[in-house]
Amino acid sequence: MEIAENVEMLEISMDMFGVESKIFPTLIWDDDNMILFDAGLPGSTKTIHNEINKAGLSFDKINKIVITHTDIDHIGGIPDILDELDHKVIVMAHKDDKPFIEGEKRFNKITPEHIVQIQEKTKDMPEDKSKTLLEMLQSPPKSKVDKALEDGSKLPYCGGITVIHTPGHTPGHICLYLDKSKILIAGDLFHIVDGELRGPYPHNTPDMKAAINSIKKFSNYEIEKIVCYHSGLYTSNPNQRLAELAGK
Ligand SMILES: [Zn+2]
Repeated sequence: MEIAENVEMLEISMDMFGVESKIFPTLIWDDDNMILFDAGLPGSTKTIHNEINKAGLSFDKINKIVITHTDIDHIGGIPDILDELDHKVIVMAHKDDKPFIEGEKRFNKITPEHIVQIQEKTKDMPEDKSKTLLEMLQSPPKSKVDKALEDGSKLPYCGGITVIHTPGHTPGHICLYLDKSKILIAGDLFHIVDGELRGPYPHNTPDMKAAINSIKKFSNYEIEKIVCYHSGLYTSNPNQRLAELAGK
């Protein structure tokens, strides 16, 4: 769905650990760039490729990938995407998540309790499939990060992109503000539940205190639309709702 000029929100159905769910990676472009925000789970590249074609756009033009944070459903598709493209693709992420994405450090969000929960959720799956899933979680695909981003970094592409560091869900979680279309790419900081914008989920946000502080960082931005990676587009007076969530 084209949500603004040269901004396409993709809608990808995927099997998320045994549960059918959707993700909404975003694609933006100008004459020299096509930038994908978040790369899906391992194995989702074919679907992403098809959805981009269906939108009348060209997957082969992707030359940059911006990652909102290190979780597997955001980084897992990077190696496949890079494999499919025969030109250099610049991968960007916040400096605090870079060592996790590159596999230099392990991000310990997947606790033994998580693994038990996932085993429970996937118990009806064929054994080889659930085993692959667990292996993938314990050893997520790695990717080189070519450009480390910081809070306030300005990317001079597609009308300008501002990096907003919003830690909590992971140490280097970022939101991206598209200067021209006034769209906020929110990653997993926000979710839409029954049409209402909500803050991060406590069950998968190790540092809720930091996440709640992160919500307070948007007061200087004029935001027309918010793209939530797991629930899609939010358009109903975003600035007012963000101020409410920030407790103002
Ligand atoms: Zn996610």
